[in-house]
Amino acid sequence: MTEQQIVFLRSALERAGIAFRCGEALSAHTSFRIGGPAAVFAMPASSGQLAECLRLCREADVRRYLLCKGSNILFADEGFDGAVIAVGEGMDSIRTEGTRIVAGAGASLSRVCLAARDAGLTGLEFAYGIPGGVGGAVYMNAGAYGGEMKDVVSRVHCLDEAGNPHWLLPEQLAFGYRTSCFEHSGWAVDEVEFTLRPGSREEIAAAMEDYLARRKTKQPLDKPSAGSAFKRPQGAFASALIDQCGLKGYQVGGAAISEKHAGFIVNLGGATCADVLAVADDVSRIVREKTGFVLEKEIRVVR
Ligand SMILES: Cc1cc2nc3c(=O)[nH]c(=O)nc-3n(C[C@H](O)[C@H](O)[C@H](O)COP(=O)(O)OP(=O)(O)OC[C@H]3O[C@@H](n4cnc5c(N)ncnc54)[C@H](O)[C@@H]3O)c2cc1C
Repeated sequence: MTEQQIVFLRSALERAGIAFRCGEALSAHTSFRIGGPAAVFAMPASSGQLAECLRLCREADVRRYLLCKGSNILFADEGFDGAVIAVGEGMDSIRTEGTRIVAGAGASLSRVCLAARDAGLTGLEFAYGIPGGVGGAVYMNAGAYGGEMKDVVSRVHCLDEAGNPHWLLPEQLAFGYRTSCFEHSGWAVDEVEFTLRPGSREEIAAAMEDYLARRKTKQPLDKPSAGSAFKRPQGAFASALIDQCGLKGYQVGGAAISEKHAGFIVNLGGATCADVLAVADDVSRIVREKTGFVLEKEIRVVR
């Protein structure tokens, strides 16, 4: 960002009453605990403020990146030379309307699951324990244990590059394996409507606890990571392939393939973005050489 762009954005954000910081360490906002400073880190607290952030970045021709809970992102050690727009507090409302739950993009997915449980609504149990927010989950079409966002999202209120509002229906969301239309459009998720079915509170709670227990048993939740490092290749599981190649514990600097779950790259302490990428690249190459399978990163790398 040029000095002129920073000055423009700072004063415009100030005038609009939008909270922001300059030089904010992104490592504090990602589950990997990795990432250098963001030139500008804006924290819109309403849809109107989010729209204004998008509009201002466009007007100033500033590169911007939408951040939700940061549980699927690897930011560069050099940071982000643009505006990171963090959708969180103030945009995290959750309300129940019959069999529908409407949640702000900044709401935590697990809180939405708890609201569904309390309302006796089934369908979202699979998402309990995914450490993301609603915006990131829709962007990623997050899924687990046979469920995906695409099964439960009935419409999305979003904002285009200029901050104009739109409603998108399932057929427009282009949900695929860990992707959605947002990956290509750059539009921002503002609010999401989930349509669920009436169910037994006890059974919903039991399923959620079961999924959470499975996560605790299988995943290295005691170490910073961004979840599964690789997408599932057609006809195999990334973790099984990595394990089969004897790569559990494979380490570069502070980053390593988890000893507990070979699908995770963990930060053992002080890992850099470069360490994680080196592990990912080495592991992909070795797996390809030994098994023929190509591993594609699920983690979003932002440079
Ligand atoms: C321990 C652990 C376990 C995990 N388990 C699972 C799992 O079981 N299943 C699974 O699918 N994932 C899993 N993940 C990965 C991650 O939690 C999910 O991908 C989650 O949906 C990301 O949500 P987030 O809010 O953290 O998004 P972020 O990481 O903040 O962002 C992810 C992407 O969404 C975009 N984005 C964020 N907010 C918006 C918005 N408002 N509008 C438009 N785009 C936006 C970002 O630009 C980025 O490209 C796991 C991660 C960890 C650390």
